[in-house]
Amino acid sequence: THFGFETVPESEKAKKVYAVFENVAHKYDVMNDAMSLGIHRLWKDALLRAAHPQPGARLLDVAGGTGDIAFRFLEYVGSQKRRRDGRSASWQDICEKDPGNREEGEEGAARDSRVVVCDINKEMLKVGRRKARRTGLADGVLWVAGDAEELPFDDAQFDIYTIAFGLRNVTHVELALREALRVLKPGGRFMCLEFSKVTHPVLARLYDAYSFQVIPVLGEVIAGDWKSYRYLVESIRKFPAQEELKELLEDAGFCCVGYRNLSGGVVSLHSGFKL
Ligand code: SAM
Repeated sequence: THFGFETVPESEKAKKVYAVFENVAHKYDVMNDAMSLGIHRLWKDALLRAAHPQPGARLLDVAGGTGDIAFRFLEYVGSQKRRRDGRSASWQDICEKDPGNREEGEEGAARDSRVVVCDINKEMLKVGRRKARRTGLADGVLWVAGDAEELPFDDAQFDIYTIAFGLRNVTHVELALREALRVLKPGGRFMCLEFSKVTHPVLARLYDAYSFQVIPVLGEVIAGDWKSYRYLVESIRKFPAQEELKELLEDAGFCCVGYRNLSGGVVSLHSGFKL
């Protein structure tokens, strides 16, 4: 292939993935909108609606990048709280005891925060933190640099674990799933948004043409980076389809595993529980 990712040995994948997201971090949000025609926003909204988090829930968003899921979580919980209290809650109310926009390593911070974004890539986190400051949500989120395969958190800390468009970038998916199970509280929920297999044959052909011919060109034109977006398309190809991912979740020990296709299977939303 053009970029040769198919032949990259496992030991090199993490390094390559790091380089890809380091390169695209500053353009990541713009590219997401351009490539998905804004539809990634709807997929992320669908995840939040399905998770239906209540005030008090603690979220860990792994491979959280620039914070889209975390910000939506705060907004969703805020709206739930307003509905419950029949008054308008300030962000301070919602984030009550949150320690704020802290850096990794501050003692106790990960234990106290309602929303933790964990990503391996410091550049992506930097963009996310900047966005949080801009949108006035800086107090709600803790940004932690860490690997999905070896999460820097104690056991049974979170009510919800989310990973959006992150799992296919992880080298050992089973290790990431084991870690997800470990950090969830009993009864906690795992939710994954990921590109999947398009079910309708005509849509599949259109989607293929779009992926291989349009996306790398957009990557070159907007981010000046053909290779990273070629990697994106190839990594989507290689990632387990709906049923296969469901099995991986069951094998990892999740219960009541299910999934829903979004946009005809372009993306699937998987869910499972820790008992
Ligand atoms: N969740 C965000 C979203 O939906 O917009 C970002 C998704 S982005 C496509 C994938 C993210 O996964 C990147 O920020 C990348 O740094 C991160 N990532 C890749 N490998 C990782 C790992 N082993 N542990 C944690 N994050 C990882």
